[in-house]
Amino acid sequence: MDIIVVRQGATDKEVRQVVKKLEGKGFKANISKGTERTVIGVIGDTSKITEEESNTFEALPGVEKVLRIIQPYKLASRSFKPENTLIKVGRHVIGGKKIQVIAGPCAVENMATLLKIAEEVKKAGAAFIRGGAFKPRTSPYSFQGLREEGLRYLAETRKKTGMPVVTEIMDPRDINAILEYTDIIQIGARNMQNFRLLQEVGSYDKPVLLKRGLSATIKELLMAAEYIMSEGNNKVILCERGIRTFETETRNTLDLSAVPVLKGLSHLPVIVDPSHGVGKRHLIPPMAKAAVAAGADGLIIEVHTHPENALSDGEQSLKPDKFRVLMNELRAVAKAVGREI
Ligand code: PEP
Ligand code: MN
Repeated sequence: MDIIVVRQGATDKEVRQVVKKLEGKGFKANISKGTERTVIGVIGDTSKITEEESNTFEALPGVEKVLRIIQPYKLASRSFKPENTLIKVGRHVIGGKKIQVIAGPCAVENMATLLKIAEEVKKAGAAFIRGGAFKPRTSPYSFQGLREEGLRYLAETRKKTGMPVVTEIMDPRDINAILEYTDIIQIGARNMQNFRLLQEVGSYDKPVLLKRGLSATIKELLMAAEYIMSEGNNKVILCERGIRTFETETRNTLDLSAVPVLKGLSHLPVIVDPSHGVGKRHLIPPMAKAAVAAGADGLIIEVHTHPENALSDGEQSLKPDKFRVLMNELRAVAKAVGREI
């Protein structure tokens, strides 16, 4: 027993009774009020619930039926919530008809460069500014990010441009600063299975952009989303950013089939990061267009005014003029698949 479907017209008192009974048995309840129906997700080890016990729930007033979910993820699954999840950030909606574009430098380097890049990508049609203040670098001797100073520059950029901010968290100890200065918390590929970090961001009402791990299966990505959602935060955006394969021509192998697969298995919005997916500037436009054609709800793209001087990922950063051309091309692709950008 994983899901309790509430009968149409059931009273709040009846729903509370179901929740109380669940809690009495040591489970937590996650209530999802959809347009069609309300369902209660049962959080905990549901394999221990016997058939008889499950029947006692079905007999409660206000309960239409009790369902079992075959997948190991529950709250993230489409069987739990058939309709697409829409995540509102300021005046923007992620997961709706409009494809949302997040753009900006890999890392926040200084105020002037960040602001200039933000103004450029905004003019081209991006809604969100990205930039890492805490950078997960392969070498401890590479630039690690400006930390809190970088977060302050992001907040200042938001104030000046009105663009909501996306930035990465690497350590639960930074959560308060991240919550204060940013709008969407990014969990990077290297931390996709940092379960303590997932639980931390799951306990706040702040959207989370969850990137697929370097060698993670789609199921593992959804289980990571489940970690966040089981703490109460349903605002998870899934991100395909390329996986490790035997191929060496590209930085990673961008698995675009993950987009329709994820959209089928889950109600969560799915976005694509072609920059880290391929790692080479000239390959980003074709893969961004392919991502939109494949049904992505958004894109996250690295842009830098002087990629040759960038402190990280310059080789995969688009210059603003190329980004503008890409945005125009994306409009036509979006239209062809019934979306807008
Ligand atoms: C990034 O977005 O700059 C980043 C480090 O991404 P990923 O975690 O996907 O490598
Ligand atoms: Mn990067």
